[in-house]
Amino acid sequence: MFSYRHAFHAGNHADVLKHLTLLPTLRHLMQKAAPLTLIDTHAGAGLYRLDSEAAHTSGEAARGVLALRAHIAQQDRPAAALADYLALIASFNPPGAQDWRIYPGSPFLMQRLMSAPERAAVHDRLRLFELHPTDSRALQANVAQLQAGRQISIEAADGFAGLPRLLPPPPGPGGSRRALALIDPSYEIKTDYARVASAIGQALRRFATGVYLVWHPIIPRPEAHGLPRRLKTLATQAGRGWLHVNLNTGSGKSDTGLAASGVFVINPPHTLEPQLRAALPAVLRALGRGPGQGWALETAPAPATRPTRAD
Ligand code: SAM
Repeated sequence: MFSYRHAFHAGNHADVLKHLTLLPTLRHLMQKAAPLTLIDTHAGAGLYRLDSEAAHTSGEAARGVLALRAHIAQQDRPAAALADYLALIASFNPPGAQDWRIYPGSPFLMQRLMSAPERAAVHDRLRLFELHPTDSRALQANVAQLQAGRQISIEAADGFAGLPRLLPPPPGPGGSRRALALIDPSYEIKTDYARVASAIGQALRRFATGVYLVWHPIIPRPEAHGLPRRLKTLATQAGRGWLHVNLNTGSGKSDTGLAASGVFVINPPHTLEPQLRAALPAVLRALGRGPGQGWALETAPAPATRPTRAD
């Protein structure tokens, strides 16, 4: 069985980048009053304790979201996406708390946006997959507290296989079909890279207008290096636009572990690029650790003859 447990990594720089990309994407899609199917193929446990032994041992949140929070507290006018992200994390903690104890994972961030009063009549749905038995049980227990009923489903199953099964999503009352999928594996197994590309290929064939977000590590390994290139090819062949954002925190003297990661978005909303460009300089100032640090953002629009977005 896998040994990866997200509790050691929750709130780290990779979560910051991933959730900072996810939230403005969702906010944009949710401006339209038509239901969305949200899919999280690798959901994790849903909620994480920042005061747990796991979080203290790794210290990753301290160098991630907590460092960002401290940095932004000194700023008069943080970028809108950063302010929104931090406010959302704060809302899972007691009002005005000095120390954050909880970091919400992607299922809870998505659920929080789905349950906003203006979405209540829209009936968005959240479909979660988590294969690790312990995290899957934790996710079940955490989600049960929301009393969300059939709005949220959880399968203790393989998310790569689950994604195409859910596509195309069911139509809303007006007939439109809308979906966003987050694909966020741990890449513990080398074959995950190929499985991401295969799942995206199938997803685009079944539902080309879906919005797909893929998180990936940037590490010196051929499969990792090749994944963004494969995703660009798949998106381009399907005639879809894409956005690719990378964050490298660089390495401090005693740092070990992952320093850089990226998020690849197929069919990104047009508002995402300016929001990330406004936010990332401050993220890097807060999270940068030394040599190699930087961020990069690249986009390609969909060919003009096709609809460019699912929104
Ligand atoms: N998406 C979560 C978030 O942002 O809060 C974090 C997910 S974590 C990076 C990856 C999770 O995928 C782990 O909890 C791991 O147990 C789970 N996992 C690994 N392989 C899987 C698979 N094939 N299908 C579903 N879940 C899997």
